[in-house]
Amino acid sequence: MTRDLWLEAHSYLRPIADLSAQVDRAADEIEVLDARIPDWDGYRPDFLAGVPLLSSADAAVDLEPGGRMAAALLERLGSETSPEWLVAETRALDTDLRRAPNVSCRIAEFLLGDETLTLPFPGLLRYLAWTAMARFLGPVVNAFDGCRDEDRWLRGYCPTCGSLPAMAQLVGADPGRKRLLSCGCCGTRWQFKRTGCPFCATDSQRLASVTIEGEHGLRIDHCEACGGYLKTYDGQGNEAFLLSDWSSLHLDLIAQDRGLKRLAASLYEFEPARKSRQP
Ligand SMILES: [Zn+2]
Ligand SMILES: [Zn+2]
Repeated sequence: MTRDLWLEAHSYLRPIADLSAQVDRAADEIEVLDARIPDWDGYRPDFLAGVPLLSSADAAVDLEPGGRMAAALLERLGSETSPEWLVAETRALDTDLRRAPNVSCRIAEFLLGDETLTLPFPGLLRYLAWTAMARFLGPVVNAFDGCRDEDRWLRGYCPTCGSLPAMAQLVGADPGRKRLLSCGCCGTRWQFKRTGCPFCATDSQRLASVTIEGEHGLRIDHCEACGGYLKTYDGQGNEAFLLSDWSSLHLDLIAQDRGLKRLAASLYEFEPARKSRQP
């Protein structure tokens, strides 16, 4: 299954595919600044208490360079010629942000939930700024993956950035099969209970699953207690594409037609963002 075949079969995804490709191309042109790898021992007490890495004063990950990368991405997209709406909206954001002092720090704070930065198109800013920030954070996320004690987290929000998951993935074979939750913001994947709901923390036995024919292992798991659903990739090898969230936006429509609620975090809602982080 390739991206092209997928788009042939799901032609309604083409506009979002084109947007994603354009943003990725622009982000590829931005210099990736160095991120300092935190001292894991210093962070451990906060980790055990459920504090995400980026919110931990002891881990003290400096996100300012990632904010600078985000500002550079906005500037680059604002200097392109099409599509018109994207150029106009990124320019408006860029102009407003330039008026804010410490713009790169403010962008980083905004991504971690600071609501005092009022700007036009906050949904677009979240999407673009996380695209840049995830590239900046790549080495930190990799290092954290390598040393994290998964059994001591098992929470419904991202251990790195604190966002709710965008999707889930089942990996391996029984009896050792694992369920991972996937962060649409920073790209972390972390382990979670096989049958628990990340949104209401209800216990097992109340998750149901909808399989959709021809969707290459994608399915919709939903909680009978809170009505929240999570799109789930029941396979391996195509993570970058099938866990991108935008490639399965049609499953969100199917779920919502069934009366299910998207409680998962989304970077693809460009109107004012709803709550997408843990309480
Ligand atoms: Zn995250
Ligand atoms: Zn639930």
